[in-house]
Amino acid sequence: MTTADVIVIGGGMAGISAAARIAADAQVVVLESERHLGYHSTGRSAAIFIRNYGNATLRALNARSARFFDAPGCVADAPLLTPRGVLLLAGEDEIADLDAYATGAEGLEPLTAEDATRLVPILRPDRIAAAAYERDAQDIDVDLMLQGFARLLKSRGGRVVTGSKVDEISRDDDLWTVQSGDVRYSAPIVVNAAGAWAGEIAARAGALPIELTPCRRSAAVLPPPADHDVDSWPLFGSVTETWYAKPYSGRLMVSPADEDPVEPHDTWADDMVLAEGLDRYESAVTEPVTRVESNWAGLRTFAPDRTPVVGFDPVAEGFCWLAGQGGYGIQTAPALAEIVAGIIAGTTGDVPDSLRAALSPARFAR
Ligand SMILES: Cc1cc2nc3c(=O)[nH]c(=O)nc-3n(C[C@H](O)[C@H](O)[C@H](O)COP(=O)(O)OP(=O)(O)OC[C@H]3O[C@@H](n4cnc5c(N)ncnc54)[C@H](O)[C@@H]3O)c2cc1C
Repeated sequence: MTTADVIVIGGGMAGISAAARIAADAQVVVLESERHLGYHSTGRSAAIFIRNYGNATLRALNARSARFFDAPGCVADAPLLTPRGVLLLAGEDEIADLDAYATGAEGLEPLTAEDATRLVPILRPDRIAAAAYERDAQDIDVDLMLQGFARLLKSRGGRVVTGSKVDEISRDDDLWTVQSGDVRYSAPIVVNAAGAWAGEIAARAGALPIELTPCRRSAAVLPPPADHDVDSWPLFGSVTETWYAKPYSGRLMVSPADEDPVEPHDTWADDMVLAEGLDRYESAVTEPVTRVESNWAGLRTFAPDRTPVVGFDPVAEGFCWLAGQGGYGIQTAPALAEIVAGIIAGTTGDVPDSLRAALSPARFAR
């Protein structure tokens, strides 16, 4: 039996960043079922930080994460962000959606169709009724960030055990026992950072049955449109998320922006979903899609209110949620890691009560 103060289940961005923060005050062990950290959603993201992406709670988290990204200090000595920009496009029937996105948004510049095609010359101006540009959206170096948090965790005495799938969880005498194969771990606190599997982990622990839905999102890599150097283009796409495209090492990554509910699994892209998404992309640009070089898919897991679930469970004592990050789990990880570490340490720091309440699993117990 290995003992610790805190067991974190899941070695994606959520689990590793939180474990690194919690390890400042506690002995932490992270259990990850795959052989490598970040194998699932974390390794399959579009790797962008968009400050205005998400509802009001997510925007508050994005702002807190921005403070970390501005000075990643003990996590990375090189910048984790590089300039990219996001260009949002609206057809005639999407103008209200663009207005809704702009409400409460910061740093969003309205653009004409002509401005938009100057930024991305393959766009068809006749398809653009309105556009907006978020200049300070940035690419995230996800691997540098994940490895940096893992290094910080280890430097604080934390342990990471890969190839260690949690099979059973039980609580006795104020302690959780977590079984992985024939190895047992014990701690008073368990953190559920199991991504798409967080609902299953919660069920095994007898925690509140919060409805978490893993949704598949896919991406196809296309060769760059002829005679275009795409590297300086922003991410561009429809404001209603029916497709988006992003420069990807000299090529274009195009996502159908699919959101199909699925069971948690090692997911892959569906050919028909990709084809339909590429068709939507193609109708917005002047260059045809000639071939797909590669593709992938990952799972974005949402709570019913599309807001992360973070904090102690109201039913299962010592069971702490860090789940439901949806499409925002890389960019919000610095903020959520700090918040969950504060909750476990019993400190509030400068986190407003309203933000904690908006994240708390207790909102689903009402
Ligand atoms: C196509 C796509 C684009 C995206 N783009 C962005 C973006 O641009 N910006 C952004 O911020 N977010 C983006 N996201 C969302 C982001 O990737 C996720 O929110 C984030 O990676 C979630 O991190 P996680 O650690 O919770 O999950 P994961 O990375 O999936 O980690 C969970 C881990 O738990 C492990 N686990 C599960 N069950 C067990 C068990 N029983 N025992 C042990 N380990 C277990 C899994 O193996 C997994 O490694 C995107 C997602 C996708 C799919």
